[in-house]
Amino acid sequence: MGRLEFTSAFQRKMSYNICVGSFPHRVGEEVQRDPIRETSSPSSVAVAIRRAGAKKITTEVLEAVETPPAPFEGEPAPTPKVLVKSYGCQMNVYDATRMADLLGREGYAETSSEEDADLVILNTCHIREKAAEKIYSELGKLAIAKRALNARGRDMKIVVAGCVAQAEGEEVLKRQRAVDLVVGPQSYHRLPELLREAKSGARVADTNFAVEDKFRALPAPSRAQIRARGVSAFVTVQEGCDKFCSFCVVPYTRGAEASRPVAEIIAETERLMDAGVCEITLIGQNVNAYRGLDARGRETTLALLLERLAQIEGLTRLRYTTSHPVDMAQALIDAHGAIPKLMPYVHLPVQSGSDHILKAMNRKHDADAYLSIAESLRKARSDVALSSDFIVGFPGESDADFEATMALARAVGFASSFSFKYSPRPGTPAADREDQIEEHVKSERLAALQALLEAQRQAFNAAMVGREIDVLFEKPGRREGQIAGKSPYMQAVHAEGSIEHIGRDVKVKIIAAGSNSLSARLMSEEAKA
Ligand code: SAM
Ligand code: SF4
Repeated sequence: MGRLEFTSAFQRKMSYNICVGSFPHRVGEEVQRDPIRETSSPSSVAVAIRRAGAKKITTEVLEAVETPPAPFEGEPAPTPKVLVKSYGCQMNVYDATRMADLLGREGYAETSSEEDADLVILNTCHIREKAAEKIYSELGKLAIAKRALNARGRDMKIVVAGCVAQAEGEEVLKRQRAVDLVVGPQSYHRLPELLREAKSGARVADTNFAVEDKFRALPAPSRAQIRARGVSAFVTVQEGCDKFCSFCVVPYTRGAEASRPVAEIIAETERLMDAGVCEITLIGQNVNAYRGLDARGRETTLALLLERLAQIEGLTRLRYTTSHPVDMAQALIDAHGAIPKLMPYVHLPVQSGSDHILKAMNRKHDADAYLSIAESLRKARSDVALSSDFIVGFPGESDADFEATMALARAVGFASSFSFKYSPRPGTPAADREDQIEEHVKSERLAALQALLEAQRQAFNAAMVGREIDVLFEKPGRREGQIAGKSPYMQAVHAEGSIEHIGRDVKVKIIAAGSNSLSARLMSEEAKA
């Protein structure tokens, strides 16, 4: 085994951080030239440590560091680490980043490793039975990890957040003894004080729909936090749902529809832009039901909000998700023709193509209404593409109902879609119906629908070949000299190009379509060819 000599406590700590692959930004930029992984050769670890500031390396051979060194006397306690794991929708992804920002202010550093974490937060999804059950199996594994850590004299706090927390509350504490804290999606701004209670031994469940404004209570992320997350970001503009589709738990777990004021959304967007973000996706359970107040206290629509945001300098792409067909106002459809920054891609869940099932689902529109929205969107902007959500096997769904769903999918032609077997959720009206569909029928229908939707996705990708489009490059590609980004239609695109293009919309020509990504050539290179 080799030995490394340090002249300060900081250098010793850094060697540990570098060897396990997590390091502060101050030296990160240096080390990123030769990222350190568990498999990195001892000499590359040594080089990275030298770059990071170690004065003297007595040998180039280092043994992997398995446990953190004991702190030097007088050295501050090691930074606690938090791992936030998110499940389900984009709202949860957004909430997870806000929790990490909040805990950053409390001195926590983010980690992606469970072993490293002093605090693990599962930000959960309750939409289908499988999603909820997955959380309990994850908690089972965490409980074992926690016991092993406790045996080594360390602790790990486990928090259940999100919709399972909201729906099951204290039940989670009863079902899994290792859980310290349960916090609902409207209460997570209270995490710091709840964690203090948990540290003094209390096991707490807070699932109140808080009266105070959660967003105002949350601290803004730092520039470094924003930068670390890339050039594309979510901004929540609306939460909750008043639609009460008969299959869905969201109105019970996320509460009533509420919109954030325009000024708050603009301020958050400008802060993101200022730190280098250039693509914003506005999110909400029913984003197009947005009715936030403007500076004069008047209700604003999503179309007006998009128009206002499009004026922000530095912002190149705008998106919004998820929309409900009944809130697809003509002004919003027209915005697709009027705002070039608004991407020509709309996620518009339809669930079923059968009027009889749509009625039983309480969707408040029929198949024709959906088809006419699709047509209007394409009229407003001819290159608009649609994606959707489908549910098969809703109670009472006949073969003819299912055929109507297939017919609607054929008529629209989707660029991409999510499709699910109906999952009865306790407390929702459809779960109590006696005409539940047999599991094997649901499986057969799902397979048939998914085959059709997958063929449509592949056809849409293949039709991109030869097109000249803008791609927002986001990161280096897998291969040296490659960069990777997203098309306006959220397709993964890679091209040969320098990292200078990252963070910019670049004109490319699509030269090939794979099953999950597109290959492109930069137009600047195309001109030379
Ligand atoms: N608000 C969106 C809308 O109106 O369509 C959907 C939000 S929900 C979080 C996402 C998708 O989950 C739904 O579009 C639906 O397809 C699916 N989903 C919701 N409840 C379900 C259930 N009980 N069984 C199967 N899929 C379900
Ligand atoms: Fe659920 Fe329907 Fe509300 Fe969408 S609109 S979140 S599917 S209840």
